Formats: sequence, C-alpha cells, structure tokens
Amino acid sequence: MEIDAAREVRTTCPYCGVGCGVLAKVAADGQVSVRGDPDHPANFGRLCSKGSALAETIDLDGRLLHPEISGRRAGWNEALDLVASTFSQTIAEHGPDSVAFYVSGQLLTEDYYVANKLMKGFIGSANIDTNSRLCMASSVAGHRRAFGSDTVPGTYEDFELADLIVLVGSNLAWCHPVLYQRIAAAREKRPGMKIVLIDPRRTMTADIADLHLAIAPDGDVALFTGLLAYLGQHNALDCGYISAHTAGFGQALFAASKLDLAGVAAATGLSEDELTRFYSLFAATAKTVTVYSQGVNQSSQGTDKVNAIINCHLATGRIGKPGAGPFSVTGQPNAMGGREVGGMANMLAAHMEIENPEHRDRVQRFWNAPAVAQKPGLKAVEMFQALADGRIKALWIMATNPVDSMPDADAVEAAIKACPFVVVSDVLTNTDTVRHAHVRLPAAAWGEKDGTVTNSERRISRQRAFLNLPGDARPDWWIVAEVGKRMGFGEAFSYSSLAEIFAEHAELSGFENDGARDFDIGAYAGIDAAGYRELAPFQWPAPSRQESDTLAGCNPSSIRFFADGNFYTPDRKARFIAIRPTVETRTSPDYPLILNTGRVRDHWHTMTRTGKSPRLSQHIAEPFVEIHPADAGHHGISDADIVRISSPRGDVLVRALVTARQRQGSLFAPMHWTDQFAARGRLDVLTAPLTDTISGQPALKHVAARIEKFSAK
Ligand code: SF4
Repeated sequence: MEIDAAREVRTTCPYCGVGCGVLAKVAADGQVSVRGDPDHPANFGRLCSKGSALAETIDLDGRLLHPEISGRRAGWNEALDLVASTFSQTIAEHGPDSVAFYVSGQLLTEDYYVANKLMKGFIGSANIDTNSRLCMASSVAGHRRAFGSDTVPGTYEDFELADLIVLVGSNLAWCHPVLYQRIAAAREKRPGMKIVLIDPRRTMTADIADLHLAIAPDGDVALFTGLLAYLGQHNALDCGYISAHTAGFGQALFAASKLDLAGVAAATGLSEDELTRFYSLFAATAKTVTVYSQGVNQSSQGTDKVNAIINCHLATGRIGKPGAGPFSVTGQPNAMGGREVGGMANMLAAHMEIENPEHRDRVQRFWNAPAVAQKPGLKAVEMFQALADGRIKALWIMATNPVDSMPDADAVEAAIKACPFVVVSDVLTNTDTVRHAHVRLPAAAWGEKDGTVTNSERRISRQRAFLNLPGDARPDWWIVAEVGKRMGFGEAFSYSSLAEIFAEHAELSGFENDGARDFDIGAYAGIDAAGYRELAPFQWPAPSRQESDTLAGCNPSSIRFFADGNFYTPDRKARFIAIRPTVETRTSPDYPLILNTGRVRDHWHTMTRTGKSPRLSQHIAEPFVEIHPADAGHHGISDADIVRISSPRGDVLVRALVTARQRQGSLFAPMHWTDQFAARGRLDVLTAPLTDTISGQPALKHVAARIEKFSAK
C-alpha cells in the first residue's frame, strides 16, 4: 500500500487499554511525529509519556524483514507451506489438540478473529489463548458469574461524574495515565470528589487520594466482603434493587456476616479506624465507581476479588448509572477486542460460549466450518505445561514474548526449546522467544498495519497505517489466512481486504442474536471499504449504525449497560456470589517475603518497543526492587545496593530502592527488564505458575521470595 505522507493519519496508541487516539504524520524527510487526537473520546487530545514518545520507537533496527526457516532466509511460499504442512501432519498424527496458538493483546481484532476462526472452527481445537490471560481473565470470569456475560457496564465518563472513586490494585498514574489525568482534571473542577486508593504500596496514584489503604497482599476479598456486611448492618442497602434485579443476596450476606470488623482488620492489615472511614464513605456516596486492575486480577483469588467488588455495587444498586459502577481497566491495547472474537481458550467468537451446543452450532453454520471445537482449550499457563510434557507438538506464537513474560519463565523457555515445531510471527529478530523459533514470520508493526482495537470502555477504534510495509513484512491476519488456505480451508480464508474481515465479524455478532448476547455490532455487517477506512470510534453494543459513522461526526457519547436492571442470566437477574475469604500462606522461613510484580511509568511489557527510546529509559534506567527500611535493615541492605532476589524457581540481580512507600514484609519489582537490557534481570524466572482456579490467571503479585545483598566474591 502506498501511504499519503502529507496527511495526518488518525490511529490509536498501541500500549495500554485506555485506547487513546493518536494523530501521526510523516514529514518529507521521513521523520514521524505524533500528537493526541483532540476528537478521540478516550483522551480528547491527551497522551502520556509512552504515547507521546511513539515516534522515537519506530525504526528498522532489529526488525525481522524476511521469513526465516532454521535461521536461513526463505520466501513466503516456502515458509507458509512448511507451517501449514507441519501443522496438518501433526494434527493428522496426534489430533487437533496437539497444536496450539499463543496470541497477544497486541494483535488487532481482525488478526485475532482470523486466528480464532482457524483454530476453533477449522482445526477443531480450542487451544488458542492469549497473553491477555495474564492481564484481565479474572475480570472476564467475574463478569460472567455476576452478569451472565463479559460486560464492562460503565464508561470513562463515569470516572468524571462520580463523587467517590475507589481504585483497587491499580496504579493508574503510571499504568493508565490518561485516565488518571481525566480523574485529576475532574477533581479540579469538583473538589468534593473523593478518591480512595487500595494498594499495598504507596504509589504515585496516592498523590491524589484522600485515603490510601495499604492493604496486605490479597486482603481484597476480606475488605469487600467486610464492606458488604457493613452495608447490611448500616442500612445502606438498596433493597428495592436487590429484590427486583438480583439473586443470591441472602447467601452472600450470610457468608459476609461471618467476618466482623476485627476479622477484616486482621485479614487486611488495616486498622478498624481505616476500615470504618472507607466503609462509611462508600455507604454514604451513591455515585461511586470502583476501578480495578492487575492488583485484583493477577491473584489466585482474582475472580472472587472481582465478585466481592461487584457484590457491593449490586447491593447498593450502583451499576449502569452515570457515575456509578464497577469498572475493570484492561492492561493491553486490544485485550477487549480479543474477548469479542473469542481469542481466549474458553470462549467462542462474538461472546458465545464454547460449552453451549446451540452457540457451537450457530458458529459452525455461520462459518460453514468442518469441526468447531467441542470443549474449552488450554489456558496460557496450562498451554506451556502441555508443551513441557509433550502434549503440544506444534506451537505458533504471535506478537508476544512468553520466554520473558510467562510465570516460571525458565521452565517456559525450556518447554519452547524442546517443542518439535515452533513458529513465531513478530516484528523483531532478537526477542528471547523469536530466538527459539524454527520458522520466523515477519509481521507488520504499529504504524504499518491496519485494523481495529477495543479499549476498556468497549470503544472500537481504528489503527491505521501511515508507513509502508518494510521488507517482506505482512499483517498478521494475512499470514494466518495464508496458512489456513494452505491447510485446505481456502474458501473460508480467502479475504481480499480487512473490511471484509471486520464485516464478517460484525455479521457474526448479530447472527441469530436472540438478545442473550451483549456484544452486537451487527449493523456494521455491510460495511464497505470506504466505510471501514473512515470508521469513527464507537462503543458496543451498536445494533444500528450510529450517526457518527464518519470522522467528521466522531461520537463522544457514552453507552452504559444494565441501566434497566436486566442482565444476561436466564432470569435476567444479576448474581451475588457468596464468598468466604481464605488465607493463603506462601511464605516460609526460607522465603519470608512477598514479591509483588508490576509496571513502571515509561516502559511497556518486555521493552521491545519502549527500550528503543532513550527518553523513556531515562525515567528509570535499570531494574530495581522496592524494600521497606525495616526489611532492608534486617537484611543489611542499603539504598542502591545490588541485591539478589530469589524464589524457589530462580534468582535475579537488581538495585535496591529502600523506601517507606513499600509495605513491610513485601517487595515490589517491575517486570520489564530482560537479559537483553540487564544481566540477570528477567523477573519472571521468579514467579510461579500458580493460577486462579476459575479464570486461569496467574498470581503474579504474590510470590514467596527472599533477598540478600549481592557480593561478587
Ligand atoms: Fe497510550 Fe495508554 Fe498512554 Fe493513552 S494512556 S497514550 S493508550 S499508553
């Protein structure tokens, strides 16, 4: 495709789930510049440090520009034929569940749709899972338990309309900075707005909080179960709403009543005075939004945490209303798009259920598919365990770096090395995962590829190309479709354009939709190339084409779910979940500390993009661990010492940052650095493959560890 370099192109930031609109321009000398799109309803022109440095991360240094087989350059035909024939042969010999795709929230919705269609509809296995499993799977599971569907009820506008914002396990200031900016700006206009931060660490987000509760790791279930009991005891329930629109309240309240304030204090490490301040504020404030993120999701109790929060909103009828609701913010740019098209091992496309025979039949007929998967596939951690024990014999990894980002990373690397056939489609030649691939396929990067993404408030936006494809690079959807054709499924994968894929995805979302599914963009089924090219951001559901369906009329209005009190359960009532907090002890005399892993402001995941920008690297130049002064003193550690953090799985070397922002007994270290950027810096060699039993999300924020001052001798 030839790009019009003189034009400013409307696209979307490829980092976090806020989904900010970006205007990108290529100057005559080839220099790229970016600025925030003032008309995009997610950011209204704002960008954070990462978004505004996007232009600094675009270059061809380290790019994978040609297909490679066993390290030698190959043509597309040879590489695609080899991938298709090896997958077909493996399936013929060992069955469809002997192959798997591990994909990414960096994929665009059209890429995700085609990959999911190939695996679930034509290969006949559900072994396709995503690195978004590490990010928000517990929220998906919690939504489905409470609402009967994976639905984020509210919108970003609610953050500005709320009188109380409760941030749980979320360092919004660094991880979703534009949402933080929107809240800070709203608070300037309405100083009465209150903000409570619930986080073991005193992060930058605490700077705007009226109350910071430095909760014990995994104390969230007890905190919100205690809140439900408090609401019951203090006449703060919306009994009319509970009776008309919910089920299971009695059991949930009974379970909660087992915990008194002293019990909550013991489980959370908070004082009864702190608890009472939070509980009374929540009880008294009708317009409350509870925003939660990885601190909630990345836990062995992640789904229960989500439902404990939702229980409190259902008990007060604070859902689906302006300025009120539970709100999960996603980490990745297209985690939500992947959910829409079935990019998770336990979902079908268009939010249909893999366990539901009617849904399987509907998808099979729509795709005219030979072999729709009959049961859920392997979730991310299970997938790499199946790789290790030989059940998976051919793996295709798309746009992600599991050798550095999966828990128990050394074991994951060993499993990938031992796998008979590994394909990686990516933009770089030098990630720790690409190195182990038998076949490397050069994918298009941000700025070169086209498609759609969906942000945390269900808003679908276009990513648009403003650079020509370098070398032999191709879009992910094209690569997958070519393999599908070569596997003998030509008719189903003969797409001539992206608009065709988007239109098919939209048509499936509305296909025989009986109203029991909430994702519907069926009105876009007939979209043509011109309509797709000019598609303006819009929220789902969108059963009718919005008037704003042109860039000129970009629609900033917000759509909420459940305003009428109807949910997607068979009786249309939301479900309370009866939850009893459990206490898990992972520490031991050998590993007495709890390691919490997370992000810093200016880096993204394993730094393959942000590591290219010296400006971003200036913010924090090396890996570190935060340790409380009392723990540092106990271990003879001073500020800036090099220390070794060890877990039962491995060890890393990082710089000590002694700070009272860190809770005593806990450590915090960022996940970004790999051995490419810092010797012995791969943090996920420490983390365990321990998951939430419902969601399959790994508990990346609660790792038993020890620390010692490093001596080179
Ligand atoms: Fe990009 Fe997220 Fe920053 Fe917006 S807030 S510019 S989406 S990283």
